[in-house]
Amino acid sequence: MLELNAAQIQMQQRAPDKQAALRSLADTLVADGLVMPGYLAGMQAREAQGSTYLGQGIAIPHGTPDTRDQVISTGVRLMQFPSGVDWGNGQRVYLAIAIAARSDEHLQLLQMLTRALGEGDLSEALRDAPDAEALVALLRGAPQELALDSQLVGLGLVAEDADDLAWQGIRLLKKAGCGGPGFAAGLLREPPLPLGDGLWLLHGEEGVGRPGLAFVTPETPLQHDAQPLAGLFCLASRGEAQRQTLERLCDLLIEGRGREFSQATSSRSVLEALGGELPVDWPSRRIVLANAHGLHARPAKVLSELAQSFDGDVRVRLPGDPGRGVSAKSLSRLLALGARRGQELEFIAEPSIAGDALPAVEAAVRAGLGEEVEPLPETPFAPPPIIEARVSLAAEVSPPLAPAAGARIQAVAAAPGIAIGPALVRVPLKMDFPQRGQGLAAERQRLAQALDEVVAQIQALVERSSEASIREIFITHQAMLRDPALHEDVGVRLDEGLSAEAAWIGEIEATAQRQEALHDALLAERAADLRDIGRRVLGHLLGVEAPVEPEQPYILVMDEVAPSDVASLDRDRVAGILTARGGATAHSAIIARALGIPAVVGAGEAVLALAPNTPLLLDGERGTLRVAPDAQAVEIARRQREASLQRQARADAERLQPAVTLDGRAVEVAANLGDTADSAAAVEQGAEGVGLLRTELVFMQHASAPDQASQEIEYRRALDALDGRPLVVRTLDVGGDKPLPYWPLPAEENPFLGLRGIRLSLQRPEVLETQLRALFASAEGRPLRVMFPMVGFVEEWRAARDMALRLREEIPVADLQLGIMVEVPSAALLAPVLAREVDFFSIGTNDLTQYALAIDRGHPTLSAQADGLHPAVLRLIQMTVEAAHAHGKWVGVCGELAGDTHAVPVLVGLGVDELSVSARSIALVKARVRELDFARSQLFAQQALNLESAAAVRALVEEHF
Ligand code: PEP
Ligand code: MG
Repeated sequence: MLELNAAQIQMQQRAPDKQAALRSLADTLVADGLVMPGYLAGMQAREAQGSTYLGQGIAIPHGTPDTRDQVISTGVRLMQFPSGVDWGNGQRVYLAIAIAARSDEHLQLLQMLTRALGEGDLSEALRDAPDAEALVALLRGAPQELALDSQLVGLGLVAEDADDLAWQGIRLLKKAGCGGPGFAAGLLREPPLPLGDGLWLLHGEEGVGRPGLAFVTPETPLQHDAQPLAGLFCLASRGEAQRQTLERLCDLLIEGRGREFSQATSSRSVLEALGGELPVDWPSRRIVLANAHGLHARPAKVLSELAQSFDGDVRVRLPGDPGRGVSAKSLSRLLALGARRGQELEFIAEPSIAGDALPAVEAAVRAGLGEEVEPLPETPFAPPPIIEARVSLAAEVSPPLAPAAGARIQAVAAAPGIAIGPALVRVPLKMDFPQRGQGLAAERQRLAQALDEVVAQIQALVERSSEASIREIFITHQAMLRDPALHEDVGVRLDEGLSAEAAWIGEIEATAQRQEALHDALLAERAADLRDIGRRVLGHLLGVEAPVEPEQPYILVMDEVAPSDVASLDRDRVAGILTARGGATAHSAIIARALGIPAVVGAGEAVLALAPNTPLLLDGERGTLRVAPDAQAVEIARRQREASLQRQARADAERLQPAVTLDGRAVEVAANLGDTADSAAAVEQGAEGVGLLRTELVFMQHASAPDQASQEIEYRRALDALDGRPLVVRTLDVGGDKPLPYWPLPAEENPFLGLRGIRLSLQRPEVLETQLRALFASAEGRPLRVMFPMVGFVEEWRAARDMALRLREEIPVADLQLGIMVEVPSAALLAPVLAREVDFFSIGTNDLTQYALAIDRGHPTLSAQADGLHPAVLRLIQMTVEAAHAHGKWVGVCGELAGDTHAVPVLVGLGVDELSVSARSIALVKARVRELDFARSQLFAQQALNLESAAAVRALVEEHF
């Protein structure tokens, strides 16, 4: 465990800003031999993921899991900043505790600090502390809350004698983190103190991790010092924490209520008597938090001030947490809850004030606690509440009736290919169950059996998974299921009379929420795993099983598929993907294309009601779904698949030939790349150049902005592989929905309409300048095309161009063209002006479509309509091409539309000179161009421009090609 002491503290430090403070802290860690210099990047990245501000003027900067290898030895270094450092979000830090930790030690420190910070505000005291000792005393001396909950009560324990019983109390305290090394010896050194009524008290201060009180009773009465021993209190004491509880205990004993302890049969009655658990009759209210950034400093402050205005206890806890929750009057405790938007909070108030306090709190929380809040969706994404009801097997979403056998559904083509197979429908299951069990033994047995069976099920998955990464996930799940600590904690809940389901899922949810509240990415991932196994076991207990995977390759049907879901699919088992929602430019669709899994998206909710194993036929090129197709349809599809495989084979054979229409117009077909390592493979797949190098991936692969030399390595690698073919590089396009961890940006209401692309680059010109230098230096006479993303104003283009031209004076480039991406409608509309100045345009149809049709490209339900073949988008493309050609400039298309075989005839007909597509699509796109007659395509494109919708354009293409 990390310890704090005066030698680690540097007093009276100054830092103009957070970055400077981080650098000083990192320098100290390096100088003291705790970390290597690379750790600073991890600290910066961690702040970019989420501020490490803890509350009360304290921040605890630390590295990310990626930079743990930079830690030489675990330790902490503290700096006091009496003038304060702005830590973002209006938070001022007077004490920064830099942590070098190889594992999760810093979480213990964080826990200790959040608990150590008292109800009052320490920040002024930290700022004014005269010396290091005073600072440590402040941190150590702050009142801590006494741990006292059901896990610290053990009733009717089998114990041979007083020592044996004492050890059991010690064990409970240790498990709760109250006792460290030396604690047990210290506690047992002093003789126990008789309290009367057979009750005794043991207490110790040595090795106390945090203060706590355990109470244990023996199964059969014992003797100590020739007196009865019916119950033993074991106190891990620290400071003032236990004062209130001990006073209360003395009062109870004086009142002659000692038997409530010595004869206690339930931990709840013990806790209620001692004030360790809230009396059941305290009124409560559950309210869902809607603040965009959760219960952060500002709203928490408003809430704590409101709670302080009541003359009585107002507490708040996360549902499922069996403890007392935290005082709503304490800012630091509220912050340590880590509650996010959508999180349900349970407010509990003392009966004397509840009538006023709870409505006032509810009104304030709903009104946003001083912030403007977006109302939450109907179903909050908070963890599902535990519902006391009968078992119901209904799906959480109640979709309309499943499409009938033979139905043909037109949806959105997301990844080409024809897939035939049984449906495996994955929808979240609703699982209701009674809270109270049928007896301890029976519930324990049910749970044990369910756990064994789930472990065995997972073992089968481990054995079947060919991908190592997937196997590892399942092995971790098995380890979690066997975790003895988890079993013990669930056991405590079972002891309280809960059903196996309620005890199990209650503990899982409480643990997951505690982990999430610590704001650590790694722990948050573990929380997701925990919930995953939680649901599995719960489903098993209720007989609500996750669907069994069919033996043969199946079609995965889901509401929406996250990119990580797609990336982790077993490609040998998943023949195709069908989703109820989503669009073609969603990331999951892009990944499905890259993996070569046919996918149809946005097919509507009805598909979620398909019966397991319903035969499905997907056409990922046309975006169609056939439900339970008849033999003839399957036969046709098989033939089509055969034909398309043959077409692919023919196209592959000619992939290195140019793409020239029947009447002699050449269209360049290039590759879209994110990783320069793929350049050589792209050339091998027929690329005549790289038409879009998305350099943000180059930046994302580094923990901090890559310097010129490391960027040069990347760009040279691409240029070398291209061997004289052109490289079109897009300068860094981050911001908005594509954050860079080390480039923190303020949160925006509408990131797609915010600070992204060139707008951001012009605000940080040094980054753009370094990138341009690296590009120019690596060109070495080879054809380099540089384009700027998201240009919407002529001034943006000119500022970027001027910078490039100035740098070109310094670093001559023989073959350079400068252009812009046309992604914003204003750029297309202004193309006649821009075309006078640029060397080329490259049309980013993904963004151009989203902005022209005002549909967020990632929108779960609307993005299916964001089709780049919409005539409105086609008109913008036409304007761009006409303007460019009028000035002798070339135009490419590098959005997903360029690789859509339905769109190729239209784009070629509109006069587009270059199509830049994913490497996998190059051969087919080239083959498609070769089938076209340019003159005919031109007429055809004119026809398309005059249609009314994307669907009409697609129908026209189907008819003619
Ligand atoms: C586009 O918007 O079409 C494009 C190619 O850029 P990205 O998909 O990277 O935003
Ligand atoms: Mg774009």
